[in-house]
Amino acid sequence: MDMQALPEVTAGPKDARSCIRLLKVDRERLVTHIRNVQCLLDNLLVNEYFSVEDAEIVGACPILPDKVRKMLDLVQSKGEEVCEYLISVLQRIPDAFIDLQPWLEEIGFSPSELVRGRTVVNTDPVSRYIQKLRSEWGRDSKFLTSYSQKEEMLLADIYTENVMELLDFRNESLGSVSSLSSLLDDATGVINAEGETVLVFGDAGVGKSVLLQKLQNLWAREELAAGAKFLFPFRCRTFGCFGPGAALSLRDLLFAHSCCPELDPDAVFAFLLRFPRSVLFTFDGFDELHSAFDLSRVPDAASPLQPAHPLALLASLLRGKLLQGAAKVLTSRPGVELPRALVRKKVQLRGFSPSHLRAYTCKFFPAPAQQQRVLNQLDASPHLGTLCSVPLFCWIIFRCFQHFHGSHEGAHHQPDQTLTLTDIFLLMTEAHLNRTVPTSLLQRNTRSQVETFRSGHEALRALGRLAHWGMLKNLFVFSQEEVEASEVQEAGLELGFVRAVPESRPTGEQPAYEFLHITMQSFFTALFLIADDKVSTRELLQFFGEWTPRGRRAASLPLPLLRLSCLGRNNLDKEDPFRNNDHFQFTNLFLCGLLSKAQQRLVRHLVPVGALRRKRRALWRHLFASLRSYLKSLPRTHTEEFIQVQAMPTFIWMLRCIYETQSQKVGQLAARGICADYIKLTYCNACSADCSALSFVLNHFPKQLALDLDNNNINDYGVKELRPCCSRLTVLRLSVNQITDSGVKVLYEELTKHKIVTYLGLYNNQITNIGAKYVAKILEECTSLTHLKLGANRITSEGGKCLALAVKKSSSILDIGMWGNKIGDEGAKAFADALRNHPSLSNLSLAFNGISTEGGKSLAQALQENSSVKIVWLTKNDLDDEVAESMAEMLEVNQTLRHLWLIQNQITAKGISRLADAVQKNSTILEIWYGPTPCPALWVGVGTLATYLVLKMNCSS
Ligand code: ADP
Repeated sequence: MDMQALPEVTAGPKDARSCIRLLKVDRERLVTHIRNVQCLLDNLLVNEYFSVEDAEIVGACPILPDKVRKMLDLVQSKGEEVCEYLISVLQRIPDAFIDLQPWLEEIGFSPSELVRGRTVVNTDPVSRYIQKLRSEWGRDSKFLTSYSQKEEMLLADIYTENVMELLDFRNESLGSVSSLSSLLDDATGVINAEGETVLVFGDAGVGKSVLLQKLQNLWAREELAAGAKFLFPFRCRTFGCFGPGAALSLRDLLFAHSCCPELDPDAVFAFLLRFPRSVLFTFDGFDELHSAFDLSRVPDAASPLQPAHPLALLASLLRGKLLQGAAKVLTSRPGVELPRALVRKKVQLRGFSPSHLRAYTCKFFPAPAQQQRVLNQLDASPHLGTLCSVPLFCWIIFRCFQHFHGSHEGAHHQPDQTLTLTDIFLLMTEAHLNRTVPTSLLQRNTRSQVETFRSGHEALRALGRLAHWGMLKNLFVFSQEEVEASEVQEAGLELGFVRAVPESRPTGEQPAYEFLHITMQSFFTALFLIADDKVSTRELLQFFGEWTPRGRRAASLPLPLLRLSCLGRNNLDKEDPFRNNDHFQFTNLFLCGLLSKAQQRLVRHLVPVGALRRKRRALWRHLFASLRSYLKSLPRTHTEEFIQVQAMPTFIWMLRCIYETQSQKVGQLAARGICADYIKLTYCNACSADCSALSFVLNHFPKQLALDLDNNNINDYGVKELRPCCSRLTVLRLSVNQITDSGVKVLYEELTKHKIVTYLGLYNNQITNIGAKYVAKILEECTSLTHLKLGANRITSEGGKCLALAVKKSSSILDIGMWGNKIGDEGAKAFADALRNHPSLSNLSLAFNGISTEGGKSLAQALQENSSVKIVWLTKNDLDDEVAESMAEMLEVNQTLRHLWLIQNQITAKGISRLADAVQKNSTILEIWYGPTPCPALWVGVGTLATYLVLKMNCSS
């Protein structure tokens, strides 16, 4: 029996009412709600309030209500203390007597000192199960196991926050997630109240599994604020491992494939069915399910007891057909569609920001000297920083640093040499191969990279064969037979690239295996395609089918898509629900890297020279041809100023591949193929490392260029990587990109060198007054700048004043957007000063900036002396009737302003009436928007305006 600590009861004034009486009065309520008589008997026995005979008498009753009645009779006959004890047990094991908790609150029960000192043993199956779940999940989540089983790190020591953004259905940001607990609360980010699933998506390696592990760990330690009593963590790839004929009941799924109750599973399962809202499921890696799984086509599991295919159980849980109301957190790579009706919140994981990266560095390298050395390297090499913003790559890089004694320079790399992802995976492979070589503590491993790879050649090739085979079949978990069929030996498994699947095995008692990470499977696939001389050029290029535009795929259909069509997908253009085939894209990327010139020194020792030459030639030919045709196929728009090309996420993958080749020739070809001077890369999920690739290509671009990277995740490292192309950029749009002041400083340094920028978009980043000062300098020095977008940053009056001063000095600026900062009245006054007789400014937004009477009046007065401004947004401030009066005076004088936005302010009917009078004397104003709510009234046209105003006034008074 479990004698551990139980929840403490709240001490309070002793209840005056007799407990014997309470049991009598509420007898029928107790009879109805006490289900676990045994637990009460166990406790009465332990404290010797009951004899064995008493318990037998109760047990002899045939049905539950009679058992309860008999027990109550006996308890009452034993006096007040025993009755009080019985009630205290109901209170101290709340999960066992959940239906009686309201009754306990009603009676305000608080036991005496004596009874409180009595032992309570928990023999309740439900709460015992919760304890078991907590201890198992706590144990399972304690270490980051993907660090290969040999070198586990405590999750608590290494887990670092990363960027999590709440999104709506259009993928517009709704702000960031403040903590893991808040993922599950209703305070922020709910976009569909009927949905039950929190969808967390992000690229491979960005930390989705680790996030769930952390969630599990917090739950196990009772630190997750959301009140789920039960947690069932699953990995979706497990569901994909069951054969087509497999059938399980929900109960089997939970108890046999997750965690089995020690006591009375029937009672536990009944509890789960009664209280589904007390359950939290996590499903990791929805994208890794078999491609043929289409949620919309899977039938529902009819009942919780009836066996169904595990995938049907998964679908039914997600749809809320089973355990309706249970919370679910589902992770996936981008591009996998979950029906909107099921989604409650949508969260994008975006990896480490520069400050998170610093925090992670300090955790990874606790020794101060090494920590400082790594931080210095990151500062000196922004490209390294860009790779490190993906936690997986960061971990690999840091592991290599560790292995090669604190820097990547030890590993055959010159400090100024660009490190590609292929380099990093090769370094990691080398480190793993070296780890298995016994060395003495004093002796450093002195094998060269070539020697190391040669020695591990066979093992690597076998692992590659396994990876490739799985890639063709979209399989990520391998049985023992499959491992053996690929000729992977024990020594190969011990290298640590593959690990035993952690959870209980769906396919019998034999162990199942998986690569540490899906990107590692892609890397080994590429290695195999290159190193195996039986691989034909067609096979080598099979995954490049991903690049072919939709509709034209049939001719060059990659194998996985062919397989899909065999499984009944007859319409190839129909959106594949599993659009995320990044594992193929990563394979292509590693192919480009491994066949690049830089890797020849190594690769030629692994592949016969003839075969290598043939493969290189085939890859380059294909790369050139597909680049040319893809770029040609991109949609183009001709505007007055630009030929605009709208690039797709595949374009980003192409850039990544080009960068991986490190071939200037390929870069040049891509630059030439772009055939546009406005590149739009909005919402492409581009990260900071992609800026390195973009720069690599745009460096070869012959002309000036406009670049729109709005709504990505490039952060300060990305900005640094864009430096080489700043000499060409006339338009630079970097809104919604996690950029901070240090990124803005870089922009200042670069843009003021060339002074050609006309449009700078930095809306919704993390710019404070420090950054605002750099932007002000850009405005002062870049005399071509016409548009500046700085809304939704963290600029207050100090930054506002600097910017206003720069506006005052600029004779080029046309449009300045400051929506959603906090410049207040002081900032507004400075802008007022800038407005007086400004020669160029046409559009000004100071909406939602905490401006009140003083600021508003100054602006109105300044506008009297302005003849350039046509639109002013002052929406969502604290402007009142005094400001309306000043605005009215201004309208009697100003003859330039056409649109004035005053909605969501404090202006009353009085102010409006004053404005209406003034408008009659103004012949240029076209519209004034006013009103207390975001749904404003619009006054259009001068003649009708006054009438409308008066009518409106009469109505409201
Ligand atoms: P994903 O599931 O998105 O592909 P993982 O969660 O498997 O990525 O993360 C890959 C690796 O990155 C982990 O094994 C771990 O080393 C590292 N990692 C990810 N997220 C974090 C984090 N928040 N803190 C520390 N390390 C992390």
